[in-house]
Amino acid sequence: MTLPASLADRLNRVRDEIALAADAVGRDASDLTLIVVTKFHPAALVTSLYDLGVRNVGENRHQEAETKARECAELPDLRWHFIGQLQSNKARAVRTYADVLHSVDRASLVDALAGGDPSTRKHVRLDCFVQMNLTTDGGRGGATDESDVLDLADRIAGEPSLNLMGIMAVAPLEEAPDVAFARVHQASVRLRQSHPEAAFISMGMSHDFREAIRHGATHLRIGTAITGSRPLPG
Ligand SMILES: *Cc1c(COP(=O)(O)O)cnc(C)c1O
Repeated sequence: MTLPASLADRLNRVRDEIALAADAVGRDASDLTLIVVTKFHPAALVTSLYDLGVRNVGENRHQEAETKARECAELPDLRWHFIGQLQSNKARAVRTYADVLHSVDRASLVDALAGGDPSTRKHVRLDCFVQMNLTTDGGRGGATDESDVLDLADRIAGEPSLNLMGIMAVAPLEEAPDVAFARVHQASVRLRQSHPEAAFISMGMSHDFREAIRHGATHLRIGTAITGSRPLPG
């Protein structure tokens, strides 16, 4: 009889697999940031992950993230990554607790993030990724090609209160992750020609982080492979 894997077991297994995948392509695993996606899970899970050494967590809904960040306020070196679609009217509120925003998908959101009272912000400059839409559905939000990425990147870089990190993407269902992630890498090379500092790539989830590492991902957003299946959204 085998016992069900614990949170620590799953976390260690994913960490091992990240190290193996990095090693296989001659990359240093210490250059990779593992963000454990805790959406729909209670703050208690965040605390358990913290006790296991996790310092980066990802959330995709403002209200839930705000509440959890408040509940975990006694964990000061824990970094909150906002990875979900963000309405412009929530942009200022997200800046009160977020350390990194992965989902800048339109110019109007850049403007909303730059507005408001600077004294309410957690960071003078918020780290931001341009989200790239890899699907064929242009209505999905996000930059659909390299020139779109550059336009949005220029806009972020032009705001003194925002710090351009690079590109974020989710592999679409209809395309092999290897092919989709190669396109992101290419867009990243192009982006760095005009913004050398924007060298980071946020991509790779539970089922495709190995491919993401192969194509230059620096920030991995991994949920279920570590947390187990998610409760239904509350
Ligand atoms: C939920 C989510 C993840 C994590 O997905 P898993 O398949 O659970 O690893 C990563 N990125 C985004 C944008 C998400 O919404």
